[in-house]
Amino acid sequence: ARSATPSRAWAEIDLAALRGNVRALRERAAGAALMAVVKADAYGHGLLPCARAARQAGADWLGTATPEEALALRAAGVGGPVLCWLWTPGGPWREAIEADVDVSVSGMWALREVTDAARAAGRPARVQLKSDTGLGRNGCQPADWPELTAAARAAETEGLIRVTGLWSHFACADEPGHPSVAAQLTAFHEALATAEAAGLRPEVRHMANSPATLTLPEAYFDLVRTGVAMYGISPVPQVGGPADFGLRPVMTLAAHLAHVKRVPGGHGVSYGHSYVTPGETTLALVPLGYADGIPRHASGAGPVLVAGKLRTVAGRVAMDQFVVDLGGDSARVGERAVLFGTGEHGEPTAEDWARAAGTIAYEIVTRIGARVPRLYR
Ligand code: PLP
Repeated sequence: ARSATPSRAWAEIDLAALRGNVRALRERAAGAALMAVVKADAYGHGLLPCARAARQAGADWLGTATPEEALALRAAGVGGPVLCWLWTPGGPWREAIEADVDVSVSGMWALREVTDAARAAGRPARVQLKSDTGLGRNGCQPADWPELTAAARAAETEGLIRVTGLWSHFACADEPGHPSVAAQLTAFHEALATAEAAGLRPEVRHMANSPATLTLPEAYFDLVRTGVAMYGISPVPQVGGPADFGLRPVMTLAAHLAHVKRVPGGHGVSYGHSYVTPGETTLALVPLGYADGIPRHASGAGPVLVAGKLRTVAGRVAMDQFVVDLGGDSARVGERAVLFGTGEHGEPTAEDWARAAGTIAYEIVTRIGARVPRLYR
């Protein structure tokens, strides 16, 4: 059921669109399983509603960064395979093992901590070994991989762990043809061969994020891990927009105009007066600011649909509000202003805001703050 529209601002989350995106991505990667990536509060869309909707639409796995996110899924009764991949020392590994959450291990120290937790839990940990095939972030370096895979196999034989997965992550999959992409694929094949030689027989081998799922079938292996595409955002806008891949944006961010007024020309607008009205005009106040995740970097640039016309943020984005200049037009207080959405009704998209703020659409949706209610439909 659609909840009442809040007076200030809201983010509409179209779960039917999310389910459609999951189905489209499953179809694209047919033959591989799909992991719905729901870390960071499902990229700002809401962890539990999105995880449940993704499962309904056939997502085989759920993926989180932190173990706390994975445990939040379990606490809410979400079952089925879940992987959390951000290993940090002293994490709730015993709880993760007891909750049947797969944990990612990139080094010997992590393996030791997880095997200790498995002993304490009295049951084997489900472990996915991560290889650094070139991202240079976490993941085990090729030089250390033989030792890690051999130690993992030994721990498996001891009954302390079960190696359920072997995996890696791309650095430049959003730049199809970048030479690192092919190099990482080759390195992953080598890492798999080493692991197999050590006797490991995982359930899943995986590497593809959204950009690889959309552009690189060689990277599918047994499973694709899709985040941003599932939320209807194309990570490869230079190749195609969401519609080109059968995807629909899930989040629409809107607010009610809180104030409308006529001002004379030469009137400074917002902090620093970086915008000065060029002549007599109408200003409208949008009650959203950087505390809500509206990037201050989009000052003077962010697009907003007001009364059927595209407007631009006039002056600086403040903590809780910003202004748009309506020129000779007017608008009602309480009228709906749409910052971004599907783009199907002339409104901007999260990608437009990313361009205006010099960032990526991932950051735009993920940073929409907790003060903005999510309305699910
Ligand atoms: N896999 C890992 C390890 C990630 O960290 C992420 C998110 O950054 C993803 C998959 C999903 O990436 P995307 O949102 O591009 O699908």
